[in-house]
Amino acid sequence: MLYHATSISGSSVAVVVVLLRIGVDDTDSVSGMCTTYVAAVAERRLLALGCEKHELSRLIRLNPNCPFKTRGNAALSLHFKVSDTQVEKAVETVLQTVEEFYEKGFAETQPGVVVYRGEDVPDEWKMFALRTVREIVGLDEAVELAEKHGAEVYRFNGGRGVIGALAAIALPLENPTYEAIAYRVRSNWGTMRRVDPSSVLELHRSGLSFDSYDPETGEIRITPHTPCPVLAGVRATSPENALKGLSMVRFHEEVEYVTVFATNQATDMHYIPSRIPLLKPFQNVVVEGRVVGRPFLKKGGHVFFRVGDEDGEIVCAAYRQTRGLRRVVQQLVEGDVVKVMGAVKEKPEGLTLNIEKIEVLRLAEQVVTRPPLCQKCGRRMESLGLNKGFRCGRCGEKLPPEARVKTVVPRQLRAGVYEAAVSARRHLTKPLSLCR
Ligand SMILES: [Zn+2]
Repeated sequence: MLYHATSISGSSVAVVVVLLRIGVDDTDSVSGMCTTYVAAVAERRLLALGCEKHELSRLIRLNPNCPFKTRGNAALSLHFKVSDTQVEKAVETVLQTVEEFYEKGFAETQPGVVVYRGEDVPDEWKMFALRTVREIVGLDEAVELAEKHGAEVYRFNGGRGVIGALAAIALPLENPTYEAIAYRVRSNWGTMRRVDPSSVLELHRSGLSFDSYDPETGEIRITPHTPCPVLAGVRATSPENALKGLSMVRFHEEVEYVTVFATNQATDMHYIPSRIPLLKPFQNVVVEGRVVGRPFLKKGGHVFFRVGDEDGEIVCAAYRQTRGLRRVVQQLVEGDVVKVMGAVKEKPEGLTLNIEKIEVLRLAEQVVTRPPLCQKCGRRMESLGLNKGFRCGRCGEKLPPEARVKTVVPRQLRAGVYEAAVSARRHLTKPLSLCR
C-alpha cells in the first residue's frame, strides 16, 4: 500500500492509496463479445470514478494450443491506484461490468475475476502464469493459489476464467509489445467494419506497427472477422507507436473508445525448449534435430517431414495456410540440421509438430547419383536395380554398383530462420521483422 499525505483546508489528512490489480477472463463466446472490451469498459468506468492508472492494462494471450480456448485465448488485467475509501466501489464496478457484458447462455463461457491488493505479485503466481502460456493448467489449482496469497476470487457460470484472470495479473512481462484498440459503438456491432484499406497500407509502410497487413495475401490484419465490439487493433513495440499507428487508420464509422494494452503478443513466450521423447500434446516447443528422409506432400497442399534426434523422431507439418513456409520445408534434405518451433498435436498417426517457424542451422550436402557412361561406347548405362549394377543398352557392357556417378547439387535453400505467413501466425509468435 502507498501512503500519500494530502492537505485539506490546512489540516493534514492521510489518504491510503491501494494498488488494485484485477484480472478478468473468459467473458466471450464463439458468437461474440470480447474480453478486451469488457476490460476496456471497466477501465473507462474506473477512470470516471477518479481512480488512477498505475500501469497499462494488460492483454495476455494464454496457451494457443489449448483445447478449451474460445478464440484468441486472451485474458485481461487492470492495475489501478485507488484510495481506500473507493476500493469497494471500484471492485464492484468491475464485477458489475463483467456481469453486464459476459455472453450468457453458453456453457463454455465461464468468466472469472481475481482481485489482488498489493505492489508485489507473489513469485508462485508468476510461475503459474508462465505455465498457463505454455501448457494446460487446472481451475482448482488457480483458485487455491489465488486464495493462498489473499486474492478475492469471483466465479460466474463455473468460473474457469479464474485461471486466465490470475495469469493476467501475474505474468512477468519483461519485453512486452503493445496493442492499441478502437471499439465500435454498440449500434454498429455485427455490421461490416468501415475501415479505409489504403490507410492500413500506409500504416503498414510506415513501419510503426507490425502484422497490420499480410503482403502474401493482401489481407488487412487490424480488423477481426467476428461480430465483436473491436473495430481495429494496431500492434507495435511501444505504446506511443501503437496509438500513433491507430491514428493513421481512417475509419468511416464512430469510435466509442480507444485504449492501449501491454501484451505478451509476439514474444515467443509460449515456446519451451524440449527434446523429442519429452513432447506432449498441447505444448508449444522448440526442438533441434536432423531431417530424416524426404519431405512429402499430402492432399490439401500440406507438407510433412520428419525430424530426429538421438532419442526419437517426430513428424513435422507445414500446413497449407503457412503458405511460403511450405516452399522452404520442401527444399529440406536428409541430414539438414534444423530447429523447429510449433505446437504439438495428437493425431491418429501419432504426435505431430505443426510448425510456425523453422531455423535451418546447417545444410547437408545434397548428392544425386546417376548411372555411369559406358566405357566402351560412351552411352549412359541403365540401372539393373538397387545395388545390382549397370548395363549398357547398346553394347551390353556391365559395371558394378560402385560405378555410380555422384554429383553434389548446389542447394537453393539458405541457412536462416523462416516463418509462416502473417495470416497463419499465432498471437504469441514473434514475427521475424521484430527479431532483427
Ligand atoms: Zn556400351
